[in-house]
Amino acid sequence: MSEKIILTGDRPTGRLHIGHYVGSLRRRVELQNAGDYKRMFVFIADAQALTDNVDNPEKVRQNLVEVALDYLACGLDPEKVTIFVQSQIPELCELAFYFMNMVTVSRLQRNPTVKTEIQMRGFEQSIPVGFFTYPISQAADITAFHANVIPVGEDQKPMIEQATEIVRRFNNIYGETLTEPKIMLPDNAACLRLPGTDGKAKMSKSLGNCIYLSDSAKEVKKKVNSMYTDPEHIHIEQPGHLEGNTVFTYLDAFVTDDDFAAFLPEYACLDELKAHYTRGGLGDGTCKKLLLNVLNARLEPIRQRREEWQKDIPAVYEILRKGSEAAREVAANTLADVRRAMRINYFEDAEYIKQQAAKFK
Ligand code: ATP
Ligand code: MG
Repeated sequence: MSEKIILTGDRPTGRLHIGHYVGSLRRRVELQNAGDYKRMFVFIADAQALTDNVDNPEKVRQNLVEVALDYLACGLDPEKVTIFVQSQIPELCELAFYFMNMVTVSRLQRNPTVKTEIQMRGFEQSIPVGFFTYPISQAADITAFHANVIPVGEDQKPMIEQATEIVRRFNNIYGETLTEPKIMLPDNAACLRLPGTDGKAKMSKSLGNCIYLSDSAKEVKKKVNSMYTDPEHIHIEQPGHLEGNTVFTYLDAFVTDDDFAAFLPEYACLDELKAHYTRGGLGDGTCKKLLLNVLNARLEPIRQRREEWQKDIPAVYEILRKGSEAAREVAANTLADVRRAMRINYFEDAEYIKQQAAKFK
């Protein structure tokens, strides 16, 4: 039997977008369908979302079900995957509390993703402690389930490194207890960190530059048509540039040769289209139209499944409730091991109580 324990989460700060899809979600569904794992967990990181949304708890509360719907719409199957809500597993807080002693403030300050996020959120002068320490809490999310495969986008690399360091430190001090995680990045370079429709470095819910999995065909059309391309490519006959050209990055992330046969048979593959674009004589309109067709082909089944699930929202919450219950059992087992390893399981340690009694004789 496979030894893979797969785990990933998403913050309920908005509906999920195509960046999540290519960075992580698509892979999770593939892994699920391949069945090569011992256990698979997917969770909604509501407690983490609260670390930078303290004034807007309603945003998190409202988006919980949106993220759950996006999971189900993409084909995650609650029969095969444990889908749970982070805040419902109090053991995660306890584990994070012990981990806090194993990480220095300066180590956290070096985390490049957190650095960028602090800037993005204008937190320079007033970083909430909870936000600053979220990489530690993420290490707890991972280790509480002994997860060893973490399929995520590139921005998560520093988090997995931090988690690995904590596991090593813990096991070193208290003996082999926790499992080291391994990151699983997308193999397609365009998917590591999908840029926003505005050409900015990352498509992100917080930046408003997203194409959502639940956008209608009309919304996707509007977004694709106003997408950032090559600002120097003004006339069709001019040579176009691919670097930083978001339309081509998205094509890299999504298009297959079959898509060319279906939507643009004049070209066999993306390399041919790129060659024509850089040579000159190919307009942005043709490329955008192809992208639109490809995106809609991928998103249509997702939209349809979402619509079906939207008809039974109580059932979606029931999936989350059951998943959280099952996840809690696993986390509680790990915590019992952790307490034993840390020797803070005083009341079940008869030998320890006997020794103490002898000390006072
Ligand atoms: P927020 O702005 O609230 O942080 P987000 O859009 O960054 O939201 P997260 O919930 O932080 O989304 O990320 C969830 C998962 O999706 C992570 O595995 C992350 O690596 C991946 N991911 C998010 N955005 C992208 C992107 N643009 N390209 C590739 N992967 C992404
Ligand atoms: Mg994020």
